[in-house]
Amino acid sequence: MPRVALVTGGTRGIGAAIASVLKDAGHQVIVTYQGNEDAAAAFTRNTGMPAQRWDVGDFEACQEGVASIEQQYGSVDILVNNAGITRDGMLHKMTSDEWDSVIRTNLTSAFNMTRAVINGMRERSFGRLIQISSINGGKGQMGQANYAAAKAGLIGFTKSVAQENARKGITANVVAPGYTDTEMVAAVPEAVLEKIIAQIPVGRLGQAAEIGKAVAYFASEEAGFVTGATLHLNGGQYMT
Ligand code: NDP
Repeated sequence: MPRVALVTGGTRGIGAAIASVLKDAGHQVIVTYQGNEDAAAAFTRNTGMPAQRWDVGDFEACQEGVASIEQQYGSVDILVNNAGITRDGMLHKMTSDEWDSVIRTNLTSAFNMTRAVINGMRERSFGRLIQISSINGGKGQMGQANYAAAKAGLIGFTKSVAQENARKGITANVVAPGYTDTEMVAAVPEAVLEKIIAQIPVGRLGQAAEIGKAVAYFASEEAGFVTGATLHLNGGQYMT
């Protein structure tokens, strides 16, 4: 059944792949972005999917953004909290800004966005909530105390929301990618990346489309019995 799906940070990388897979599944997909106008324009030109700009760390902006999307396209039945950033640094040198910005964009955003759609989903007795966490939320990573904390936080958040809303036809699940071939990973120095790939049993980075397919499963009608789950896609690098 076609649904309205909203993917945050959907103009590039993993988010863009998620949006494409959801579109291929027949859904009306709207994506958001923060500020890269060129990427957003290219995304809409190439895919025909609309992109709306706001900061997912801003509570009011999320409520207003979702309200305007729902007015234009209909009620959001599928929400993918994908937008994320890194501000890496060893904890003993990490600034308060680096900590706050990562928690705000990667974790508080999930509250802001879920809060904007949850009452509508409860009224309609249907919803699919999917968080994009990370391998590093489970295993930790030197230089990423802020990011790992935010990504681990998404798992506790999701399990709680899953319990609160299970009787309302709403599922909440997590997809935890390992190192995936996107601009975020392209920013990793080549020597470091080589070492990372050497630690991945399948011997390669993940592809964004692989993450998209996992999200599409959680978003499907058929996945109604799956809630509070975390699916790890990491080439065997971290087995839980
Ligand atoms: P990219 O950096 O390629 O894209 C990030 C997207 O998020 C962009 O669309 C960006 O918008 C948007 N965004 C960033 N900050 C905000 C904000 N405050 N408000 C709204 N939108 C925002 O990221 P990836 O595709 O690599 O990663 C996607 C998700 O997957 C993230 O949550 C990341 O942590 C996670 N992940 C990625 C892995 C990887 O290897 N790449 C591994 C594990 C998890 P704009 O273009 O305007 O800046």
